[in-house]
Amino acid sequence: MILLFLGTMALSLFASWKVRSAYNRYSQVRASSGYTGAEIAQRILDLNNIRDVTIHSTPGHLTDHYDPSNRRLVLSEENYHGTSVAALGVSAHECGHAIQHKQLYGPLQWRMAAVGITSIASQIVMWVPIIGMVFGFFPYNLVITVMAIGFGILMLFQLVTLPVEFDATARAKKVLAGTGAVAQGEEFRAMSKVLDAAALTYVAAFVSTLGYFLYYLLQMTGARSSDE
Ligand SMILES: [Zn+2]
Repeated sequence: MILLFLGTMALSLFASWKVRSAYNRYSQVRASSGYTGAEIAQRILDLNNIRDVTIHSTPGHLTDHYDPSNRRLVLSEENYHGTSVAALGVSAHECGHAIQHKQLYGPLQWRMAAVGITSIASQIVMWVPIIGMVFGFFPYNLVITVMAIGFGILMLFQLVTLPVEFDATARAKKVLAGTGAVAQGEEFRAMSKVLDAAALTYVAAFVSTLGYFLYYLLQMTGARSSDE
């Protein structure tokens, strides 16, 4: 358990360090097209005939996201105003989600449908061990089973997130190359490094939850067989 905890911790720290260092480095590389993140986002939405999505800026570092329920494309201030290859890459990636939403892209639909149950599952896996430890009134087998189900739900959610993120990044690269917003060669390679590093954080999140899920699943089958 300690090994699993340390291993997944190291993996997610590594992934977030990687994305931060790629971003910090390539947010210094200005795209020669001169677009800001907000401008390229508007251009991509227009190209895809998306009229009902609004673009907003928000404080914070790498706080960029697409909010499907309110159809808001939210960019961090530095990407909204920024003209770096990193800013254009992140903005185009978020547009990729808006395009997925418009096209009713399957994995995005599943992901949206699973948000409610996933937030319940993440509360459960956080509180059940604490309550169990403090009060100790849950039978061990029940705790293990609940944890396995909770992490199973989280794992499936992270799994569905992977195609959603990879697809948004593929769309971003295609449209940035197509519009010439990011020039071929050095600029394109730099932009790709930022988006690929960001994709790695989702892989790390999936691997971590998979690890916890398998751990509890093994405990569960172990507990069962020792009963018999
Ligand atoms: Zn994304």
